[in-house]
Amino acid sequence: MVGEIGVIHGEDYYKISFAPFSLWGSWRERFKLFIDYLDKTGFLDGKIKFFEPMMASEEEITLVHDKDYIEFVRKLDDMGRGFLDFRETVAYKGVFEDAKVVVGGTISALNLVMRGKVDHGFNPNGGFHHAKRGEAGGFCIFNDIAVAVKIAELKYKLRKIAVIDIDGHHADGTQEILYKEPVLKVSTHKYAPFFYPGTGSIYEIGEGEGKGFNINIPLPHGTGDDVFIYLFREIVEPLLDKYSPELIVAQLGADGHLNDPLVGLKLTTTSYAYVAEQLDKISHKKCKGKIVALGGGGYNPLNTAKTWIIEASKFVDSLNERVQSKLNALMGKQTWSSEEVWREARRIVAYMKRAIFPVHGL
Ligand SMILES: [Zn+2]
Ligand SMILES: [Zn+2]
Repeated sequence: MVGEIGVIHGEDYYKISFAPFSLWGSWRERFKLFIDYLDKTGFLDGKIKFFEPMMASEEEITLVHDKDYIEFVRKLDDMGRGFLDFRETVAYKGVFEDAKVVVGGTISALNLVMRGKVDHGFNPNGGFHHAKRGEAGGFCIFNDIAVAVKIAELKYKLRKIAVIDIDGHHADGTQEILYKEPVLKVSTHKYAPFFYPGTGSIYEIGEGEGKGFNINIPLPHGTGDDVFIYLFREIVEPLLDKYSPELIVAQLGADGHLNDPLVGLKLTTTSYAYVAEQLDKISHKKCKGKIVALGGGGYNPLNTAKTWIIEASKFVDSLNERVQSKLNALMGKQTWSSEEVWREARRIVAYMKRAIFPVHGL
């Protein structure tokens, strides 16, 4: 079983998109590219197993969402059109079921990992981190990440769950829902004036029991691999090591990629491979490999699929030479950051060491 990955994939699953029509094509195409690649090339030497997503129950959705809001989603489903937020997240006939099934996919991945059926779970159609308690946003309706955290706590009695979110956008929904809880939450994201969703500064550190557990790493426009890896190494790795998670939920949104049309960071597969490798290492050291990985954003289908393939390959323990050389061909060329970006990065690290690390005894 060592190094096996359970990928959640159902036939209808990939017809789902909560993005406006201009993005529906690219949202779906990345799944097809990813699944076809894994399925048809036998790429990871049989280390990948496919599993159908379950449907999340309303009880499970209620663990993190207001009843009024759930009713609102149901009402728009009945109407069969409109927006669930300010003209971004679309409603249509069947949207309620679709929103429940993508959460169900993440619960399926969690169950597989917790029951020891696979080492790592991967729900490419998961990671809806903008959904708040009572509000949709940024193509996200129900927050599967927060639901998974709650189920891990209630059903599997876990006390230390880490949520690592490397999507190009701030994990504002996850932050809002879990702000007062001592769940270690890390979000790396582009942070610039007028950039969606606008939150995610270093000073949003959590409240009450959750104080010091909400870690935002705001990346300036144009951040390259060098700075991203520096920040991950200096901040995230020591925190994760000290926290000793029993489960890692990783939102691996690939929209921070250099070629993504929406974000404006300069990351390549170098950064994503690095993060996946580190998370894999830490998970095997601390919690028998328990990672629930989620797809998140990514609006350049080919690069998003490539990124997911490389990440999945890092979760596998050993690859033969043939596969390794194919993987090398998928890797992008590392990017570098300006001196201005470096200055900001060093300021972030200094702040974390001063304000956050002492909370964790570092
Ligand atoms: Zn995003
Ligand atoms: Zn592994």
